[in-house]
Amino acid sequence: MQILRKTNQKAYRKSIKLGQKEVIKLIKEKGLTGRGGAEFSTGLKWEMAFNANSDKKFIICNADEGEPGTFKDKFILIHNPELVVEGILIAAFAVGADQAFIYLRGEYDYLEKNLKKTIKGVVKKTKSKVNIKIILGAGSYVCGDETAIMESIEGERGQPREKPPFPTTEGLFGKSTVINNVETLANVPLAVMFDDWDDNLRLVSLSGNVTKPGVYEIPSGTSLCNLIEMGEPKNKVKAVYFGCFGGCLPYCKIKLTPENVCGKECVLGAWSVIVVDEKQSIVDVATNIAKFYEFESCGKCTPCREGTMRVLALLENISMGEATKKDLDTLEELAEVIKETSFCGLGQTSTQHLLNALKYFRSEFEAKVK
Ligand code: SF4
Repeated sequence: MQILRKTNQKAYRKSIKLGQKEVIKLIKEKGLTGRGGAEFSTGLKWEMAFNANSDKKFIICNADEGEPGTFKDKFILIHNPELVVEGILIAAFAVGADQAFIYLRGEYDYLEKNLKKTIKGVVKKTKSKVNIKIILGAGSYVCGDETAIMESIEGERGQPREKPPFPTTEGLFGKSTVINNVETLANVPLAVMFDDWDDNLRLVSLSGNVTKPGVYEIPSGTSLCNLIEMGEPKNKVKAVYFGCFGGCLPYCKIKLTPENVCGKECVLGAWSVIVVDEKQSIVDVATNIAKFYEFESCGKCTPCREGTMRVLALLENISMGEATKKDLDTLEELAEVIKETSFCGLGQTSTQHLLNALKYFRSEFEAKVK
């Protein structure tokens, strides 16, 4: 696996020799994009922070991997944490930051001890003056949002902020801030060091009803069927979910690229694939996901706070056979309203799975209503 290669801090030393502008140029030229879901150019983000007029700059490593069915960042933090820390130091050098934070998902607290040890070792070997502090999240899904992370680090309630201003100009404590996720930062030393580093190789978290769930490294454009065959499905596959926020599709022959999946009204996001087979009910899956969103809604805006509760209540009624055809129409209308009017990405994507399920598997819902 490419992500398991070692650089032994040579990429950091090479970066220092190159200088800030050249490192940013190299990362831009190599085409590294954000692996947290946004696919935004990492070099461009660094360049914006480098050019920002800010007396202090910060790096935040987003290790708040809370998306259901996503565990590739955990895999990197367990198997190659040195790469992540080296990536943080290179990013800090490139933009001129002397303070970095790793915002670690609360449920990954057992990784903290080894991560601290790794930070100490890598900082010592590189002689970097950058201070890296681990902040343990409290288990809130919305803190995967970059503005909510900053609120949380500042000691406020973990809720999203308005954008703009964007973090690169006015981020943590009002200062220029670069936020990159674990996989992005782990790829930085590899991109700096190796001519054969391949941006096309992606980590996928494969789970659901398969015999071999796990993290797979595949080239972008691999067929969905090939990936699922690697996981050895237990029964005939009916649908795939791209995490919870990415929506669902009937099992089909598509090539896995962000553009292809997007063309099917889904989002590949953090490259999570959850397999649902013909023995499972889509209504049950939809109800489970709705429970997750109802629980994780931060409560800041009305469409998401109230809407996720109503969606769950309607789905539970449908599951129990107590809903009518009119309730099904209300559910669909509500899902659209929540998508269009919620304040942040959590609410805006919370009903995509449901809208897709109602489009592709409507008969399963209709079979349960009066
Ligand atoms: S959409 Fe949901 S998570 Fe986002 S701000 Fe509104 S209530 Fe909070």
